[in-house]
Amino acid sequence: MNAPAPARALRAAPLERSRLAQRLRRVLRGDVLFDAYSRGRYATDASIYQVDPVGVVVPADEADVVAAIDLARESRVPILPRGGGTSQCGQTVGEALVIDNSRHLNKVVAFDPEAMTVEVQPGIVLDHLNAWLRPRGLWYPVDVSTSAQATLGGMAGNNSCGSRSIAYGNMVHNVLGIEAVLSDGTTEYFGPFGADATRPMASARTGDLVSRLFGIAARERDEIARVWPKVLRRVGGYNLDVFHPQSERPYTADGSVNLAHLLVGSEGTLAYFRRLLLKLSPLPAARVLGVVNFPSFHAAMDSAQHIVKLGPSAVELVDRTMIELSRANPVFRPTIESALIERDGRATEAILLVEFSGERHAELLARLGRLVELMGDLGLPGSVVELADDGRQRALWEVRKAGLNIMMSLKGDGKPVSFIEDCAVPLEHLAEYTARLTGVFARHGTKGTWYAHASVGTLHVRPILDMRQGGPGGGTAKMRAIAEEASAMVREFKGAYSGEHGDGLVRSEWVAWQFGPRLTRAFEEIKDLFDPLGLMNPGKIVRPSRMDDSSLFRFRPGYAPAPLDTALDWSAWDVHNDPATERTTAPGTGGDPARGFAKAVEMCNNNGHCRKFDAGTMCPSYRVTRDERDLTRGRANTLRLALSGQLGENALGSQAMYDTMALCVGCKGCKRECPTGVDMARMKTEFLFHYRKQHATRLRERLVAFMPRYAPWLSRVPWLANLRDRLPGASWLSERLLGLSARRRLPRWRGDPFTRDDPRGLRGAAGAPQGDGRDVVLWADTFDNYFEPDNLRAARRVLEAAGYRVHVARAGADDAQPARPLCCGRTFLATGMVDEARAEARRTLAALVPWVQRGVAVVGLEPSCLLTMRDEFLVLGLGDAAEALASRAMLFEEFLAREHAAGRLKLALRALPQARALLHGHCHQKAFDAVAPIRTVLGLIPSLKVETIESSCCGMAGAFGYEAEHHDVSVRMGEAALLPAVRAAGPDDLVVADGTSCRHQIADGAQRQAEHVARVLERALAQG
Ligand SMILES: Cc1cc2nc3c(=O)[nH]c(=O)nc-3n(C[C@H](O)[C@H](O)[C@H](O)COP(=O)(O)OP(=O)(O)OC[C@H]3O[C@@H](n4cnc5c(N)ncnc54)[C@H](O)[C@@H]3O)c2cc1C
Ligand code: SF4
Ligand code: SF4
Repeated sequence: MNAPAPARALRAAPLERSRLAQRLRRVLRGDVLFDAYSRGRYATDASIYQVDPVGVVVPADEADVVAAIDLARESRVPILPRGGGTSQCGQTVGEALVIDNSRHLNKVVAFDPEAMTVEVQPGIVLDHLNAWLRPRGLWYPVDVSTSAQATLGGMAGNNSCGSRSIAYGNMVHNVLGIEAVLSDGTTEYFGPFGADATRPMASARTGDLVSRLFGIAARERDEIARVWPKVLRRVGGYNLDVFHPQSERPYTADGSVNLAHLLVGSEGTLAYFRRLLLKLSPLPAARVLGVVNFPSFHAAMDSAQHIVKLGPSAVELVDRTMIELSRANPVFRPTIESALIERDGRATEAILLVEFSGERHAELLARLGRLVELMGDLGLPGSVVELADDGRQRALWEVRKAGLNIMMSLKGDGKPVSFIEDCAVPLEHLAEYTARLTGVFARHGTKGTWYAHASVGTLHVRPILDMRQGGPGGGTAKMRAIAEEASAMVREFKGAYSGEHGDGLVRSEWVAWQFGPRLTRAFEEIKDLFDPLGLMNPGKIVRPSRMDDSSLFRFRPGYAPAPLDTALDWSAWDVHNDPATERTTAPGTGGDPARGFAKAVEMCNNNGHCRKFDAGTMCPSYRVTRDERDLTRGRANTLRLALSGQLGENALGSQAMYDTMALCVGCKGCKRECPTGVDMARMKTEFLFHYRKQHATRLRERLVAFMPRYAPWLSRVPWLANLRDRLPGASWLSERLLGLSARRRLPRWRGDPFTRDDPRGLRGAAGAPQGDGRDVVLWADTFDNYFEPDNLRAARRVLEAAGYRVHVARAGADDAQPARPLCCGRTFLATGMVDEARAEARRTLAALVPWVQRGVAVVGLEPSCLLTMRDEFLVLGLGDAAEALASRAMLFEEFLAREHAAGRLKLALRALPQARALLHGHCHQKAFDAVAPIRTVLGLIPSLKVETIESSCCGMAGAFGYEAEHHDVSVRMGEAALLPAVRAAGPDDLVVADGTSCRHQIADGAQRQAEHVARVLERALAQG
């Protein structure tokens, strides 16, 4: 057999690269991204690898794809199709022209409800497809954990498997046909074969290809029967057994051959999938879930083989470590705790989530009963938590789906590494396999956390390794040693080495080990038949590199961030960890020359969770642009490359880096929702601080940043301040001169700020607190104070009505500007002026700490301001005083809810004329889990029904929405959910939003006046 000529890549040929880029730009309608920053964002996936692609195209349509493949072939440049880039094995990294399908090629092309099929483009995301199918009573049942990110093309590329594969099979069992483009430009439909063929082969080329495939399969029939793993979960290699099925679950129900199944799992190495014909399933009318609590991990593993006999649709494992990690996460804690049964003071060591689905609820409850009986028979009576209602089941599945991500939040260089994460063994060996592998980990000084698909013998486990450590005893050497021991066990138990995630760079080397030399040669023949020039995603599945080729690692030898004198304190990330105990060293001891900033950025493991559109906030800008650059992941990757010098000199000061951060609206959605805690809002402040050192701050930014300083003066001439929105042409001028959008009104200045109500303020307030818990310091933020002071007045009235003594926060007597109101520094932080922010924070601390030390709560209205005291104040180097303030600073509604819970709130409220309140939570409230208190306090108003709008960021985000160049994105963010929901509200409904900019966006976009919760409560005061 002739080996194909290796594809000639363009690493060392910038001229050829730029020629290809030019040719692509001439022909394609979509984006052609060849700059180092864009390429860097496509150099990684959720694996340990990083390879700089030749370039990236984001095709606008299918014609673009064909043109890109043609031009790549003419230039002999490899081609790499990509969906969400969530592969764990390095399938989607390579020195190739990357084709990103996810942005535009995401349509449903045809739907046949009778046949229960749908034809889709490859970039459609599974959750989106299922949302489209739901009203039609159908779904696509390959429910991968990354369902909110995974594209159907990527799922087919990897032969992905969902939690319910025991009931529905893997991807390969649910794809009926693939319209593919081969690297030589041939377009062909691959579907039923022979007598079952629905369409004739389009060309002699593919006719010949198929008959040769058939020949290879016939020739290797005995070898296939001899070596092929018989388990359901085998995704390694090519599916050469389509002609002579070996799996316990055949490819097709009637045993017929479907050629599309040979392409499924080919990881972009055989063809580009232009369209996929999918088999749909009826949505089960009902589901019930039994959560079995086990006193030992072994007992859980041993029980799986008995539980599957009850015919569940899923049996999923969550182990002790994962339980504890979920408990530590505020989002997941209530859910996981509601599924646990602590018995005799003994903690649950593992749980199995056992789901039954079907048409009739009553019948499912009976099956749940049988599970309870079975567990009794197995010596575990009373071990099952029965969840019959959908909401609780969904919440628990979310915890299970987030499992891997939760695990990845370990700080320090040791990380859970995916390379034997999905070996599949027959169920009867599961307990022994996991016990012995745990022993292997221990011998190598590490440990692994177990979770996932017990029903099909695929348990996920990632040993913690430090892949930056080379040499004997380093992470790389351990990875190989563990892989070898694990593979020996998989062979002993007749399992599959790759049972879910595919081959990619980390496991293609093991294809030969699994299938032997004969079949490996057969795989190479298949590759060459489809792709004679070797252009499709080379180096995966066949002719691989070594898994431990460290030149392909993300943290390759020589990787080192440059020293950086950071403005914020990142020391919490600057730690080492112990893989065996997961304990971390003291903050600041991790040896990061960037003082922890680089390690914080490196926390992004590229799992792609931020590519989401469902509930939650993250990442609002990506939700509207769908551009990898505007994703938390895109920003973190770019920062990592910049900090480690991989984007050339002074990348932190570059325009491209600035552009990368530009659409981050600082919503802090990622702080809470990114499973590894990447806090991009804080990172943006740090970045801007360094950027500002080299670039003059624009007048517009200065006007915003310094507002707290000039506001006292301007509020004395509000008519002047408001002239811009009154004088014809002034807004146009402000756009030309300052970049403030002429399509926006600016917030209206008031001449009667709240802090002028009572000039004595804090100092005048009857000296020290009286120690009876009835003193409160009211924090007057700049925005409410100067634009909507009545909110603060309302808050004061409500607090006083409830019997609290309200002291208005003011600067201390020894302050350099005692008359100037205090400021949290928010506007300075948003523009990267950290020194100014720190100065404001110091003033605030000096004024408030004496109160805080005496146990007085500091209560504020504007979420972004008040919560700064609980967030950025702690990383400004302000010491214990900042900690003390953070522990007492709370939002108005948080304070009232706390007092209410403690039985101390005496607030007499009466019903309002309105019966319903629509609530929009500010992003920072969501990030700090502070939306529920608003519901609580609104719930105190008799007969008021409160509904939370399921929305991400409102899109205004401080000054962002006023900026001319961001106006459209800002509006689109608002239109994504919030504004339509407000428009749909009845005329008598209340609209409640605590954020100043949220209220402004609602007023501009939906012509409704939203209110701060304090105003609503004030109106409901019984003594009105
Ligand atoms: C936290 C986490 C959890 C995961 N859980 C699961 C799980 O439960 N089950 C599971 O199976 N996997 C899981 N994965 C792996 C991964 O998410 C899935 O394999 C997913 O289906 C990949 O989809 P994608 O769109 O990201 O594909 P990508 O990673 O972009 O691509 C996957 C492969 O398909 C190829 N490809 C993409 N589009 C095309 C096309 N149009 N034509 C030809 N080839 C194409 C690519 O070249 C690549 O080889 C998980 C990953 C992570 C990070
Ligand atoms: S930023 Fe967070 S959510 Fe996004 S890919 Fe990185 S780790 Fe995942
Ligand atoms: S702060 Fe908000 S906008 Fe910025 S990266 Fe995080 S989620 Fe996205």
